[in-house]
Amino acid sequence: MRQAADIAIVGAGSGGIGAALAAGRAGARTVLIERAPTIGGTVVRAGVSTWEPVAGATGLPFEVYLRLREIPRAVACYSYGRHICWPASDRAPFPGGEHVIDPTVGYIDTLQRHGMTSLRECEQFARNTLHGVVFEPEVYARVAYEMLQEAGVDLITGVAAVGAEARDGEIRRLRLADGSRLEAAAFIDCTGDGALCSAVGCEMIQGRESRDQYGEPHAPPEPSPATNAATLIYRVMPADEARIEPLPPGIPPECWWRERFPAVSAVQAPRGGYIMNMLPSAGWREIAALGRDLREECRRRVLAHWHHLQREYPEFRAYRIAWIAPEVGLREERRVIADYVLTEHDLLGGLSTQDHSDIIAITDHAMDLHGEGGGCSELTEPCGVPWRCLVPRGTRNLLVASRAAGFSSIAASGCRLSRTMMQLGQAAGLGAAMALDHACDMRDVPTHLLRAALAREHVQLEHPMPDGLRERLRSAEAG
Ligand SMILES: Cc1cc2nc3c(=O)[nH]c(=O)nc-3n(C[C@H](O)[C@H](O)[C@H](O)COP(=O)(O)OP(=O)(O)OC[C@H]3O[C@@H](n4cnc5c(N)ncnc54)[C@H](O)[C@@H]3O)c2cc1C
Repeated sequence: MRQAADIAIVGAGSGGIGAALAAGRAGARTVLIERAPTIGGTVVRAGVSTWEPVAGATGLPFEVYLRLREIPRAVACYSYGRHICWPASDRAPFPGGEHVIDPTVGYIDTLQRHGMTSLRECEQFARNTLHGVVFEPEVYARVAYEMLQEAGVDLITGVAAVGAEARDGEIRRLRLADGSRLEAAAFIDCTGDGALCSAVGCEMIQGRESRDQYGEPHAPPEPSPATNAATLIYRVMPADEARIEPLPPGIPPECWWRERFPAVSAVQAPRGGYIMNMLPSAGWREIAALGRDLREECRRRVLAHWHHLQREYPEFRAYRIAWIAPEVGLREERRVIADYVLTEHDLLGGLSTQDHSDIIAITDHAMDLHGEGGGCSELTEPCGVPWRCLVPRGTRNLLVASRAAGFSSIAASGCRLSRTMMQLGQAAGLGAAMALDHACDMRDVPTHLLRAALAREHVQLEHPMPDGLRERLRSAEAG
């Protein structure tokens, strides 16, 4: 048996890091358990070290950004460069979206996505308003580690949580892959696929709900196993000589898994080169069919994709593949049925129509279904995520703070960005500590107090952003 904790958090991705920092800083004895050898989850292991524009990321993500800025060439903000939808006669064509480091942009400029009809139609809006953050993943992991240490979090890496003992909706202890057990008063599932919730028998769902289920206009008439698509991220770095990298034997030069090679979102990285996000590398059917072979097949696709880019777009001949992520990035897996399930109605209605008194995070990312039934439906204003989305139905001392939280499949596509996950984590960590202080179940956490505590931690819960918060962000970044 390991030493007991107040709060045990499983999964050290964006949600888990946010939850552990918040819980530790709130004074709870906090343990964070990660099965991979390094922390960071999708951001680090799948190489998604870009924060797309999104509202509401003013709490812990901003602190992480400020810490990254103390390290030379660790982080930068970016703007749109070229785009396949906006061809221009005076610039070489680009095979997707190019994002270029832009020193005129600050963090505050990365906090809006909503307000356009579509990227294709709104070039000027995108150029003026859509900016993001890009960072070096290993530096991010180091900074997050240091912040966790400072918050007094006990970190266990390289050990999976493989089960849990629960009775009457209350979890008592976790079983870890090294044979040990860990007792805690409260638990937060940040595994990305709700592994802990599933282990204790929570109701789970995977794939798309039918239109009947929540009346969502974009939902299919029948339930479907379709999920958002997957991508194996790769990094290219400048090379000394221009050439086309030869394909290894057995990898054909033409695209074999679809009609043509996918477009790419390429983001300039602070230490050079581009982070290459093929849109996508594999659809949901292939994810299911390939199983354990998914990464190897995606690796072959990466090599073919890169070869194609070098052949068709000569500028890429001056770059080499320097890194392929160790894990395929999965945008959507299982989700947990929570006390409230966020739906397309919340996303489309936005904060001005949502009648929830327990909103603990906001987002304005598009309904962004890569692949089948795909495309993006943009939002007109930010939408709020209620506390109840973090409370798995039928449980007492358990929360979920990851892309597996209480979202319909469509809502998940709009809520899943890394900074939003970190904000969910921040709310979960603080809320769990509050539940222990009040000796109450998670669903009885006084959310007016939680919202006040989040506001004190500079988390944006209203739209438009209050002037005081805007001023704080500006002065913290300037100073
Ligand atoms: C290809 C791709 C591109 C994306 N692009 C962007 C982008 O540009 N901008 C953006 O903001 N977001 C983007 N996203 C979305 C975003 O990166 C993810 O949704 C987000 O990082 C997920 O965070 P999370 O904390 O929910 O889960 P994860 O980061 O997946 O973390 C879950 C963690 O739990 C661990 N774990 C799982 N099971 C166990 C267990 N049993 N025991 C212990 N540990 C366990 C995992 O190892 C992992 O570290 C993208 C996603 C993908 C896949």
